[in-house]
Amino acid sequence: MKKEAITTVRIMGMEIKVVPNKRIAVERFAAGEYNQTQCEIAIATDMAPSLQGEVLVHEIIEAVNARLDIDMPHDKLTALASGLYAVICDNPKTMLAIMGGKPIVGVPDNE
Ligand SMILES: [Zn+2]
Repeated sequence: MKKEAITTVRIMGMEIKVVPNKRIAVERFAAGEYNQTQCEIAIATDMAPSLQGEVLVHEIIEAVNARLDIDMPHDKLTALASGLYAVICDNPKTMLAIMGGKPIVGVPDNE
């Protein structure tokens, strides 16, 4: 079965295109790039899929940072993205529960 590539990501009501880019790694030494004006996230194509996932999380946080005008320093943003990516990967069932609006905690027995 062929794996479908991600083509868009919805970020706080904005439909952001996710596009492969062969040149950003070479031209700008970047693995990814968020372009607010073009509503686009470019991901370098010469990376392992797992790295592309981490870069996508980074660029999503870049978009939230810009959208909410948080002005988070890039080193903090990078650390946050790495940590969040690790949590997402380590907890697929929890992520599905969050996405599905399912209860995260049960009702205690004594209630
Ligand atoms: Zn960045």
